[in-house]
Amino acid sequence: MRTLIISDIHANLAAFEAVLSDAGSFDRVWCLGDVVGYGPDPNECITLLRQQPGLRCIMGNHDAALMGFIDLNAFNDQAARAVTIQSELLSQESRNFLELLDIVYEEGEISFAHGSPRDPIWEYVVSSRIAQENFSAFRTQICLVGHSHIPSIFIENPHGRPTILTPQNADRWRSDQRFILNPGSVGQPRDRNPKAAYVIWDDQEDTWLFKRVAYDIESVQQRILALGIPSRHASRLSQGI
Ligand code: ZN
Repeated sequence: MRTLIISDIHANLAAFEAVLSDAGSFDRVWCLGDVVGYGPDPNECITLLRQQPGLRCIMGNHDAALMGFIDLNAFNDQAARAVTIQSELLSQESRNFLELLDIVYEEGEISFAHGSPRDPIWEYVVSSRIAQENFSAFRTQICLVGHSHIPSIFIENPHGRPTILTPQNADRWRSDQRFILNPGSVGQPRDRNPKAAYVIWDDQEDTWLFKRVAYDIESVQQRILALGIPSRHASRLSQGI
């Protein structure tokens, strides 16, 4: 079975469509949260996501903020402004979808958390120290996370700090060790590569394939500005920051 693993779509429909067409055939989709926030198309992204086969999606901090589950003061001003604008755009159908998302999920040997297993909404797994502290917070072999928008793998090291890998386009990963894997962000990459990021897990080969795909960034930037979403959320897309 081929599983498409995505995270942090952030209301960027053009990036999401590019990922779906680049991914080839897949049997199911796992989404690690932050479907909304920052971008111009929250409803369209939710509608397209809901059409995907075998969908499993968890809640991110932006999804929770749009639903009013967390205080906007927890965000910086520009992120909060994008959340406010999007929540005015959000349809009842979209609200119904976001409202029912789980915070964490577990299937077989794989756990899901948007941020980190011990703090699924807020913590960023971005250092070997934080990763090390999180290996005791899940019991499966693998934990999938999003939130940092940086494709990465943290490999457990029983004798010390985990090893960090930052996979590039077309890199494949396989391991019997425990690891935390971040597929990167579809709609707002932050590893200085502006292309949309995703992972395909092939459970027959047991390989995790990291991929990047270009999309029409300029059209998304124009739509962000037209909606009055702060211009930084448009400009950063071309730099992948
Ligand atoms: Zn995010």
